[in-house]
Amino acid sequence: MRILVTGCAGFIGYHLTTRLLTDGHDVVGLDNFVSGSRTNVDALRDNSRFTFVEHDVCEPLPDMELPKRIYNLACPASPSDFGPRPLEILAVCSRGVENLLELAQRSGARLFHASTSEVYGDPREHPQKETYWGHVNPVGPRSCYDEGKRFAEALLTAHARAHSTAIRIARIFNTYGPNMRSDDGRMLPNFICQALSGEPLTVHGDGRQTRSFCYVDDLVAGIIRLTESDVTEPVNLGNPVEISIIDVAREVIELTESASEITHIDRPKDDPSVRRPDITRARTLLGWQPEVDRAVGFRRTIEWFRSRKS
Ligand code: UDP
Repeated sequence: MRILVTGCAGFIGYHLTTRLLTDGHDVVGLDNFVSGSRTNVDALRDNSRFTFVEHDVCEPLPDMELPKRIYNLACPASPSDFGPRPLEILAVCSRGVENLLELAQRSGARLFHASTSEVYGDPREHPQKETYWGHVNPVGPRSCYDEGKRFAEALLTAHARAHSTAIRIARIFNTYGPNMRSDDGRMLPNFICQALSGEPLTVHGDGRQTRSFCYVDDLVAGIIRLTESDVTEPVNLGNPVEISIIDVAREVIELTESASEITHIDRPKDDPSVRRPDITRARTLLGWQPEVDRAVGFRRTIEWFRSRKS
């Protein structure tokens, strides 16, 4: 099948594209490298069924053979992008999504959209079900991403109601694995690189805030399963096993056998205190749940970062 993947140079976009190519599909990948990596695209180019177009999805889309599926992974997603790139993030969540909706309508393609657990903000309901409306500061440092993604969900839903566009929305929780950018500012690449270099691990605040980490292969399986299902309501995709950030730091030190210590630095404003998906909907409607244990996934990720360092 002919498939368009936007954001193919990013961490999740790269893994999704690799899986789609392995499954025998023809994939056109779009990226403008605002946060994606050229190395990922170079690796994808090894496959003759992959075509790359350097393009910003906020601009009118290039002419192409019409796809049957569109996977929209285009958007800077690390909290360290929110400060320097708020306008790009809001544009890609609005104009970018609108362009893809128009393409989906014109081609009759199914449009998968990568939404996020950030639509729940700093949640007052725990774990988070899809029915929870969230607790988001509309003018805070994370608002470009949180509100951008909330707007995108509203736009997709309105378009589907008005034009019967085929949409699929996943709310993606923290995901990790090989090919994360070492400089993307996220906790896990930071901790692993710090541990491998013998530097202190920088825990924000006391580290009692929690997250739930899903291995990227599990996530990609969920994304494809959702897209090929008839489920049009948003679905949480993530691993429901919750852990505090300080315990992640300890696990990374142990798994890397590092002599690094832990240092505590200021916690960013509006940093969510807890995050854990309720995945009942994904389990029931898609028959999906994560399979990769955190210790296994952390080891694979550490080995990948280690191999790049040497
Ligand atoms: N964090 C940390 N040290 C770092 C980077 C992040 O303690 O070097 C914390 C951050 O404040 C948050 C958690 O780790 O509580 C996860 O942050 P990340 O940037 O990975 O993504 P988020 O879940 O906030 O989108």
